[in-house]
Amino acid sequence: TWPPLAHAYATLGDAFSVPVAVSPLPDPVLVASSARAAALVGLSPPRNAAEEHDWALAFGGHVAEISGGSRATVYAGHQFGNWAGQLGDGRALLLGDWPDADGDGRWEVQFKGSGRTPYSRMGDGWAVLRSSIREFLCSEAMAALGIPTTRALCLVGSTRPVRRERIETAAMVTRLSPSFVRFGHFEHFSYSGQTDQLRQLCDWVIAHHAPACADAPQPALALLQWVVDRTAQLIAQWQAVGFIHGVMNTDNMSILGWTIDYGPFAFLDAYDPLHTPNTTDRGGRYAYGRQPAIAHWNLLALGQALLPLIDAPESALEVINGFRPKYVQAMQRQLAAKLGLTRLLPDDGDLFQDLLDTLQANHSDWTLSFRHLARLAADERAPIPAALTEQARREPQRLADWVARYRARLRLEPRGDAERAVAMNAVNPVVVLRHHLAQNAIAQAEAGDFSEVRRLLRALENPFDADAAPAHYTEPPPEHAPPACLSCSS
Ligand code: AMP
Ligand code: MG
Ligand code: MG
Repeated sequence: TWPPLAHAYATLGDAFSVPVAVSPLPDPVLVASSARAAALVGLSPPRNAAEEHDWALAFGGHVAEISGGSRATVYAGHQFGNWAGQLGDGRALLLGDWPDADGDGRWEVQFKGSGRTPYSRMGDGWAVLRSSIREFLCSEAMAALGIPTTRALCLVGSTRPVRRERIETAAMVTRLSPSFVRFGHFEHFSYSGQTDQLRQLCDWVIAHHAPACADAPQPALALLQWVVDRTAQLIAQWQAVGFIHGVMNTDNMSILGWTIDYGPFAFLDAYDPLHTPNTTDRGGRYAYGRQPAIAHWNLLALGQALLPLIDAPESALEVINGFRPKYVQAMQRQLAAKLGLTRLLPDDGDLFQDLLDTLQANHSDWTLSFRHLARLAADERAPIPAALTEQARREPQRLADWVARYRARLRLEPRGDAERAVAMNAVNPVVVLRHHLAQNAIAQAEAGDFSEVRRLLRALENPFDADAAPAHYTEPPPEHAPPACLSCSS
């Protein structure tokens, strides 16, 4: 038996979500589960084949206790800069909510890939194993990196054939989040003139997730400020680990400022601000280096949607335009920490930019460069670690010049080399979900062997620990590895 689900979002009524039955997966099999996500809701992960079967049935949609109250929520959104009109949970269903194991909140429980809904448009309502493995692993990887994200409780595969570019099989991820409300939920009610529902949604999000905003003179404006602040922090965290979301439409922006909807995402290998793994994004709108500007754009869309609830439009604009300085400050803090600096000095911005330019000119690996920098001695007579110079084969002198500058800066720091290295290795991951690692786990899972998905999950759960990870998880892709080539909605 499973803990009973409550149905808070359903109480908002049918204007917000409608009942839709789950389509259970045929021949469900548990591909993997996350012990850490399970602990959030007080569940123990399955320990044997019988328990794995119970999980596969429950999270493959066969158990009424879990699936009985499932609903699809309505939202809208701007996709690639264009108003897309009404959207909604097209292949996700909200099952209800479970209390947090610590008793200090609630987790909404959602299936992704559970069949068609009234909002499926042309889609089939399914998610394939390949993209579900990516979402499952990346959710838990981001959480272990300390980055706010929806969580993945488990992943269930099946024998149902699904047509994409080729025939694949259907899978379901069970996701957990305090809320799955997106910017697009607000846009839906605002642009369709449902001002009462817009107010209801605003009050609901404030009451459940941002209670301090309720006491502000203009609660909707306070909520906007809250979202701006959290989104600025989130994007700085994405940039710091080299995460590219790939499809930052307003319907993929969480009102909590958490990462949501893992589709054509990637982590940077070589540093390149224009890199995007999303093949449908030909103009590079959602490229790595554009993510901060796009977040700002998306906040404008959210602010616009909230205007019916805000007295002076200028006040909303002022709040939204606070994004840029907040993001810049958050990013400077991230980079300072990545370089082991305990405080920011006036020239540090130049030092950071110079490093980024050097990494770009050298196609240096984003993740490994910071790990190698941790081994650099501040003393200018000490050699530069070979692993670091190996990352700068194109323009070695440029790296050497930057290192001299960095060393001069380190002499203004109170910490010694050893202490700085420990601090840097605690914020710079050594294992991230590189595309080729995910592809390897996917290929094995598609052949019926889930052990690599599970092994990779364990490494991603300890992303800062170089000793715990098998060496090949910490290496850049092999020379011949095909680049990430992903499209939306698979
Ligand atoms: P995405 O770009 O994946 O965030 O999807 C945009 C919208 O399309 C969302 O409302 C999804 O629910 C919906 N959608 C994506 N894939 C499917 C699918 N296979 N079947 C039905 N709806 C889908
Ligand atoms: Mg808790
Ligand atoms: Mg989406």
